[in-house]
Amino acid sequence: AGHVVVIGAGQAGHQTAASLREYGHSGRITLIGDEGVLPYERPPLSKAYLKGEADESRLWLRPETFYERHAIERVTGTALAVDRAARTVRLDDGTVHRYGHLVLATGARPRALPVPGSGLRGVRTLRTLADAETLKKDLAGAAHVVVVGAGFIGLEFAAAAHDLGHEATVVEALGRPLARVASAPTAEHFTRLHERHGNELLFGQGIARFHGDSDGADDGDGAGEGRVAAVELTDGRRLPADLVLVGVGVTPCTELAEAAGLRVAGGIVTDSRLLTSDPHISAVGDCAAFPHARSGRHLRLESVQNAVDHGRLVADRLTGTTRTYDDLPWFWSTQFTTTLQIAGLGHDHDTQVVLGGDPGNSGAFSVLLFRGDDLLAVESVNRPADHMAARRILGSGIPLTRREASAAGFTLKGHLK
Ligand code: FAD
Repeated sequence: AGHVVVIGAGQAGHQTAASLREYGHSGRITLIGDEGVLPYERPPLSKAYLKGEADESRLWLRPETFYERHAIERVTGTALAVDRAARTVRLDDGTVHRYGHLVLATGARPRALPVPGSGLRGVRTLRTLADAETLKKDLAGAAHVVVVGAGFIGLEFAAAAHDLGHEATVVEALGRPLARVASAPTAEHFTRLHERHGNELLFGQGIARFHGDSDGADDGDGAGEGRVAAVELTDGRRLPADLVLVGVGVTPCTELAEAAGLRVAGGIVTDSRLLTSDPHISAVGDCAAFPHARSGRHLRLESVQNAVDHGRLVADRLTGTTRTYDDLPWFWSTQFTTTLQIAGLGHDHDTQVVLGGDPGNSGAFSVLLFRGDDLLAVESVNRPADHMAARRILGSGIPLTRREASAAGFTLKGHLK
């Protein structure tokens, strides 16, 4: 592959570079990132780091010496354009990098809410270390915290805010939390968990606008005028707010790919080997839309597992071992002292079997999600042994029927024996 240039020094870009060396790539590796810090992990940004329980040094994926030792050239800059004919990348400082193979690992950015006042100070999103630092400072002085969106980022932020002494109000447009990412029983558990801690969750409510503290002089667009003071819901209610975290999903960073004429559809489109429509360019991590063999659809996933396994697959291919991407998706989220772990993708399930306690009231249970008699996914709350067993069952395709899972005394671990 010669000189491999990676754009985006996040989880997937780092992994691609590190695995390339590990698997024996002897050519140059250049890792281009626009954040100006060592590659780091994002999960603690909405958890331990936000709460001040982990400092910056705990976030780095590897120390600076790792990159020196493995001759991975780290370049700080924003890639502005890819010239596919010349096989070059141009950065914002004017430098041009010639590649043998290019890896797009540009990640995703938070979606903004297209409502008046979203430019007010105190209306924030959370993606980067810099965002987390700003939010930490905001939280220290906040009296009224509102979270828009009851997805993982929103709920994790609300839990951390609670642990820092705030009661947060979470506003969600849909009828329950985690609607895109978890089953109804698991969502019910997290609703009750937050309510028990004193966080309020409002469902079926959109945001009409954000009001600033100098609203009298507001010309109506609210853009950048003063600091947020209230959130107006679509039913007209106003919630006082001096800090708003907007967690309504992300958009993949596909501009570079699009401008270079690569196929983009809800992400940078790849084949099952994570090659884009140009055989000299791969895409990995949050920005990549790849064919998911198990469900037969093109998917884009946002998880550490996906970023890491994508990076490894591309590194394998570039060092001579081509395979099809078929790794089992898994994910986790920690809120308060509760950890949810998910193995597989449960979107298409039609039935479920619950193991352990009642999800509404118990602190530990697993939900097995089936389509017909196919096990699609397992969500485990405070049951790490179930999660590990579920990964082995789903990963190796060990058959498990609903009837077997419903039998008295059934355990996932026992099923492995
Ligand atoms: P990123 O990590 O976003 O990296 C992309 C990098 O590319 C960024 O640094 C970006 O600035 C840079 N970039 C983009 N365009 C350019 C350009 N043109 N030039 C140069 N650089 C560029 N996942 C889990 O599995 N479990 C969790 O508990 C979990 N918690 C999370 C909590 C938070 C707060 C966030 C934000 C994410 C969390 N995730 C979690 C998701 C996980 O962190 C992401 O899926 C993962 O970081 C994706 O890696 P990536 O490399 O594809 O993208």
